[in-house]
Amino acid sequence: MGWSLRQDSQSSPRSDQPLSKACPSNWRSIHFGSRMPVDQEHSKNTEPHPSAETVRRRAHKARLYPSLSQEAALEGQGHVARAVWNLLHEWYTCREGGIAKRPSIAEIDRQLRDARLEPLPGWEWLGGLPAQAMQQILRHYLRSRDRWFRGVAGAPRFKQRSSKMSVDIPQAARLNIKRLNRRWGKVQIPLVGQVRFRWSRPLPGLSRDCPGRTTGARLKRDSLGWHICFRIEEPAVAATSNPGPPVGIDRGVVHTLALSDGRALDMPALLTLGEQRRLLGLERKAARQQLARKRGRNPRQIKPPISRRHRRTVVQIAALRAREARRREDWLHKRTTDLAKSHGLIAVEDLRVANMTRSAHGTIQQPGRSVRAKAGLNRSILGMAWGKAERMLTYKCPLFGGMLVKVDPRNSSIECARCGHVAKENRVSQPVFRCVACGRLANADTNAAQVVLQRGFTARSGATPGCGGTAREARAIVPHREPLSSR
Ligand SMILES: [Zn+2]
Repeated sequence: MGWSLRQDSQSSPRSDQPLSKACPSNWRSIHFGSRMPVDQEHSKNTEPHPSAETVRRRAHKARLYPSLSQEAALEGQGHVARAVWNLLHEWYTCREGGIAKRPSIAEIDRQLRDARLEPLPGWEWLGGLPAQAMQQILRHYLRSRDRWFRGVAGAPRFKQRSSKMSVDIPQAARLNIKRLNRRWGKVQIPLVGQVRFRWSRPLPGLSRDCPGRTTGARLKRDSLGWHICFRIEEPAVAATSNPGPPVGIDRGVVHTLALSDGRALDMPALLTLGEQRRLLGLERKAARQQLARKRGRNPRQIKPPISRRHRRTVVQIAALRAREARRREDWLHKRTTDLAKSHGLIAVEDLRVANMTRSAHGTIQQPGRSVRAKAGLNRSILGMAWGKAERMLTYKCPLFGGMLVKVDPRNSSIECARCGHVAKENRVSQPVFRCVACGRLANADTNAAQVVLQRGFTARSGATPGCGGTAREARAIVPHREPLSSR
C-alpha cells in the first residue's frame, strides 16, 4: 500500500483556493502569509510585517457553551484534525516503508482536498472537518517544523487521543458573531452551527468604541470544555512614557513575587480546602485503579484497557487541575497588569526556568542526589509560574509605556543592596539578611529585589557595573513589534 490518499491522479479544479495558489514557490511563504498569526519568535529573525507599527494583534479567549449534539460534532472535528496532523507527521517522518520522496506541499494539499471530497472506502470521516481547517493543519504542521529547525521549539510529535484538541476557523467572515445580551454571544461554527459563548469583553466591530477587526478564530478544548480564541487586529496606540517609579522583582518560592519597595505578592491557595481534599481522594482512587488495571491484566496484552470508571476519575482530576491552572493564570494576569501599569521600569532576574526545573534524577551510572526534594522544589517553581509572569510582563510593560529589563541573577540573594558586599554569610536564614560588611538588616527577598533593581539601572544606562559584574549580560527586553516608548 502506498501513502497516497488520492483516488485519481487527475484532480478536477476546485472552487476553493488551493494552498499552492496562495503560496506559490516555497513553504516558507506559507508561514508568513497574512492569515498566519505571527508569533514572537518569527519577528526575531524576519523583517516585521509592514503594518506592524499600526496594527496590534491580540487574541481573545471565550468559553463556548455548545449543546450536547454540538459538542459531539466539535469532538468529531477535533479528532479528525488530530488524525490529519498524525498523518502529516507520519508522512514527514517515515523515511522507509512507503514513500521514497515526500510529496511537495502543493501536492500534499491537493491530496488532502481530494481525499476529503472523494474519500477512499473507510476514509469518509475526513469529510467531517471543513476544508479550510484542514489546510490550516498543514500550515501549522509546517510552521512547527520550521520552529523546530530554527531551534525555538521541540520537534513536532504525534497527537494522542488524550491531548488537547484544536480546530482552526481561518475565515472571519464565516463566524457571523452576534451579541445576544449583556453576557452572551453567538458564533457560527462551520459544520456545527450557532454556538453560544460567554461575552466577557468588547469585540471589534460589534461593541461601541472598539475599533479593529476579527481575522479568524481557533477552537480549543481543555479539561473544562471548549473555548474559542478570536484573532483580533486593532490599531496600535503609541503609549506615552510611564512616569511610575522603578521596581525590582525577586521571584521566590516563599513569596511568589517580592518587590524592591518591600511589598510581597503571594499567590493564594488556588484550590479551596474541600477541593484539595477531593483532589487527594481522586488521586488515591486513580492510583488504586491503576494498580488493579495492572494486576488484572492478561500477560499477552501489551496495554490493558482502561476501565470506564478509571477514565472518569482521570477526567475529574484533570478538571480540578484545569480549574487550578485558570485561577493561577487569573492571579498572574491581575498582578502583572497592576505592575506594568504603575511602574516605568521593571527589573527581573533572567532565570532559565527550564534549566532550573530539570530533574535531579541523573543517569543509571550516576544517579542524582536528593531526587525527591528536587522534584518537590520543581513542583513549587512550576506552580509559581515564574516563566508565565515574565512573559506577561514582557508584552504588558510596553503597552503601558514601561520597560522590562532582565538582569543576571548571579548572587542576587547574597549580595548586599547597600554596600554590594557578596558573601554567603549575609544570608542568616530564609527571611533574614544581615550584611557582614555594613551590618544592614533587611528582609532577604526585599534585599534581593533591590539588588535586581540596581542591576536593572546599570543595564539600562549601559554604564560599567559598580559591583557584581552584571551589566554586560543584562539586557533590555524588546518584545516583538511593540515600539519602545520614548525614554
Ligand atoms: Zn552591606
